[in-house]
Amino acid sequence: MASPAGRTRSVRARDARWRGALAVLDELRRHPGVTRADVARRLTLSTGSATEITARLRELALLSETPAAATGRGRPTTVLNPHPDGPVVIAVDLRQEDWRCAVAEIDGRPRVSEEGRHGSRHPARVVAAVGEAVRRVHDRLGGRVRAVAVAVAATVRHGGVVQSATLGWGAVDLGGLAPAPGLPLLVGNDATLAGAAEARYGAAVGTGTALHVTIEVGVGGTLVVDGLPIEGATGAGGEFGHLPLGDPELRCPCGALGCWDLAVDGRAIARHLGEPPPRDPRSYAQAALARAEEDPAVRSAVGRTASGFGRGIAGLINALDPGIVTLGGFAEPLRAAAPEEFAEALTDGLMRFRRADPPPVVAATLGDDGALHGAAALALDRVLTEEGLDAWAADHTG
Ligand SMILES: [Zn+2]
Repeated sequence: MASPAGRTRSVRARDARWRGALAVLDELRRHPGVTRADVARRLTLSTGSATEITARLRELALLSETPAAATGRGRPTTVLNPHPDGPVVIAVDLRQEDWRCAVAEIDGRPRVSEEGRHGSRHPARVVAAVGEAVRRVHDRLGGRVRAVAVAVAATVRHGGVVQSATLGWGAVDLGGLAPAPGLPLLVGNDATLAGAAEARYGAAVGTGTALHVTIEVGVGGTLVVDGLPIEGATGAGGEFGHLPLGDPELRCPCGALGCWDLAVDGRAIARHLGEPPPRDPRSYAQAALARAEEDPAVRSAVGRTASGFGRGIAGLINALDPGIVTLGGFAEPLRAAAPEEFAEALTDGLMRFRRADPPPVVAATLGDDGALHGAAALALDRVLTEEGLDAWAADHTG
C-alpha cells in the first residue's frame, strides 16, 4: 500500500503517465505488430520516453515486447504485443440463426472461442445458451476479463434491446449475459458496430466521416465520425431501413408505413415476382441472385430491388455527406448483381452538385466478422481509459 504522501505523488504522475500510455496502446490497436520505434515516430516521442512508457506498460502486464527483426538500418527495436496475462474483453455476436463468443486482447482482434446455432429463438433460451458460453470464458480468464460487449441484430435503445424483426423479439433483457456483478455489459446494434469496425479496421480506414449500410433482413447501418458511430439521443439512431423510401402503401413490421426495409431485401424481390413474403428474406435473396442469370423475370426483380437500394443510398449521401460508403451483408452482392440499375438510381438520386465527385461506394472488408470487431472495440473503448487503467493498475500492483 502506498503512504498518503506516496499516493499524492502517484495521483499527480498518473494523468501524464496514462496519457502517454493510452496513446501507445491506441497505436497497438490501430497497427497490430507495430514496433516501439514506429510508435515513437508517430507520437513524436523521444526514444527514452517511448522506452519508459513501454517499460511501465510491461510492468503492469499491459503489453509485452519482443525483439524486432533487424532491418539493417537504425537501432534495434521491439515489436509491441498484448501481454499474455493482460486485460481482455469478451465480444458476442447474436445473429438471426446463430451466435459467436470471442475474446479480444488489447489489440482488439477478436478470436472466436465458442459458437452455436439457436435451438430456439425464444429470448430466455438464447440468453441462457450464450450466457453459459460467456461464463465459461470468464471462468477461464477470471480478472483478465474487463468488459463484455454484445452485438445484436436488434434495435438498441438506452443499452437494451427494444425490438428485433430479425429474431422475432420485442423488448428483451440481455442482463443475463453478464458473467459477474460489476463487470460492464455493453449492448450495440450489429450493423452500427460493424460500421464502427469498418471505419477503424476495414474499408473506411482514414476517412473521417463514413457511412456504413448493410442488408440482412432489411437495412441497417450507421454514420461514423472519427471512429465513433452517431447513435442519436437514446442510441437507436441509424435505423436507415425505416426511412419512408419504400412503397407508402406497405406497413412495415416496425409499425411505420412505407419503410425502405421492404424495398431492398428478399421480401422486395419476392413481391416483384408475385411470390409470398419469404420466411427467411436473406437466404431467399441469395437464392434469387443465383437464379437471376438464367431467369429474366428474376433478373428484372433483382434489378428493381437494386434500383430501390441505389435511390436510398443517394438520399443518405445527400443527407449525411459521407466521405465513403461501405456496403455490408447482402448489399454488395445485390449491387454487383445489377450494377447498372444501382448506379443509375444512385446518380439520379444525387443532388446535381454531388454528381461530379460522389463519395466512393465500396464493399465492406470485414465481412461477417464486422459486428464482432465492433463489439470488441466498444468494450475496449471502455477499458482503455484513465479510469479503466487505474482499476487495472490497482489490481496489478501490491
Ligand atoms: Zn419500418
